Amino acid sequence: MDSKLPDGVDRHRLNLLRAVLGAVNLGAVVLDADGRVVLWNAWMGRYSGLAPERVVGADFFAACPELRGGRVDAAIGQALRDNFSSVLSQSLNKAPFALHANAAAAARGERLQQAVEVTPIAVDGAARHCLIQISDVSVAVGREKLLREQAMVLRSQTFADGLTGIANRRHFDVALEKEHRRAKRAGTALSLLMIDIDHFKAYNDHYGHQKGDQCLIAVAAGLAGMLKRPCDLMARYGGEEFAVILPELDIGQAGRIAETLRARVRELAIPHERSGGAEPYVTVSIGVTSQRVEAPADAAALIGAADRALYQAKHQGRNRSAAQEP
Ligand code: GH3
Ligand code: MG
Ligand code: MG
Repeated sequence: MDSKLPDGVDRHRLNLLRAVLGAVNLGAVVLDADGRVVLWNAWMGRYSGLAPERVVGADFFAACPELRGGRVDAAIGQALRDNFSSVLSQSLNKAPFALHANAAAAARGERLQQAVEVTPIAVDGAARHCLIQISDVSVAVGREKLLREQAMVLRSQTFADGLTGIANRRHFDVALEKEHRRAKRAGTALSLLMIDIDHFKAYNDHYGHQKGDQCLIAVAAGLAGMLKRPCDLMARYGGEEFAVILPELDIGQAGRIAETLRARVRELAIPHERSGGAEPYVTVSIGVTSQRVEAPADAAALIGAADRALYQAKHQGRNRSAAQEP
């Protein structure tokens, strides 16, 4: 090999360069002007399963046929022809090279996440070459995914009630404002239900706070399971009170839903010996209100009317629903 070195080439420096290219934690591929592979470093050999001896001297697309016609192909063309560098956006070109962390990942078809740069290289007036650099960004991508998932969990926690898992009061306030604006803009009806468990203080006193919590969970799940439209929102409004937003329903339709919800809780048949009523089961009272298209109320007036209707249902004997106009 030494005999092939032209005069003036420092063998030590050349060996050093080779060693560096072999040691870098980065894929380095150099193509000549005809698109033949001149350099394929050890990193590429390790992650592609193609040893440098097999690839060097071959046509690049013979070694990597799936890259033909894609973004890498275009970037190579730009580098060799137009002397133009490219950075392939990692989000658009997730993993162009068939590179795998190990045999198991290869068997699963799981590629390294890659950042790819293609750069023209001109040395000593020779025909232009191009350098392709590939770095493994799997760790960064994994971290980003984890952060995104954590953000989603946090977000759902800030909008969910800790005990029952349904929407919390904050979620309800935001949703009611939004639906109220939407109803006004679209000229549609909007109904609201306020649901309160009957004699719940007596339930807690008799069965204990933990049983009380279990009862709240069961009632919330039973009620939430009855709402079929994705636009309906059921929230825990306060202690043993729930609120339901029913977009585009008038007071008659909302009243019928209130009755099915009330019947559903009774059907859960949760024993309540101190219910004070005729039947020893947990029941709810429901206040119904609806904003008419021709007489829009504000969100606070809607809540006030639902509260008045709830009070009326309680007053009339509980385990029933009542309606009030805002
Ligand atoms: P009414 O039929 O008039 O609604 O009577 P009530 O006893 O249900 O009404 P009140 O508002 O006096 O009592 C509500 C009770 O709900 C009081 C409180 O101890 C209980 N409560 C509120 N939040 C929770 C909770 O998170 N867990 C449990 N176990 N109890 C709760
Ligand atoms: Mg109450
Ligand atoms: Mg109550």
